[in-house]
Amino acid sequence: MAKPIGSTCNIDCTYCYYLHKEHLLDQHRGRRMESSMLERYIRQYIEAQNGAEIIFSWQGGEPTMLGIDFFLDIVDIQKRYAPMGRRISNDLQTNGTLLDDDWCLFLKQNNFLVGVSIDGPRELHDSFRMDRKGQPTFDAC
Ligand code: SF4
Repeated sequence: MAKPIGSTCNIDCTYCYYLHKEHLLDQHRGRRMESSMLERYIRQYIEAQNGAEIIFSWQGGEPTMLGIDFFLDIVDIQKRYAPMGRRISNDLQTNGTLLDDDWCLFLKQNNFLVGVSIDGPRELHDSFRMDRKGQPTFDAC
């Protein structure tokens, strides 16, 4: 599992165990994995796998804050290092608030398995999953 944006997230769930990790790691908001590190990670991860399918899992914080171009780079790098006869796949865990048509098209075209975090019905979700201004996020998911 890779967290290329560390603990950075655009919302502020009351139970989040991860947002405060930025203080442990002296990590400032907006930190993202540098492209050289991203390429090294993908290359080494592929080299370390011996199964028929090589699965990358992308999480955060909120990984969609990195933007589609970051994930286009991921797919390009994976294609460059893809071993013959092996399948590379990706999954993405997101709070869903930044997903728009462009994101959905990218995720569909590149066959990402997507997990969207929603806490049941609106009343429950909006009790715990607020944005940075304390506003509910159910409608944004
Ligand atoms: S969406 Fe995930 S990372 Fe962001 S605040 Fe909620 S639990 Fe934490």
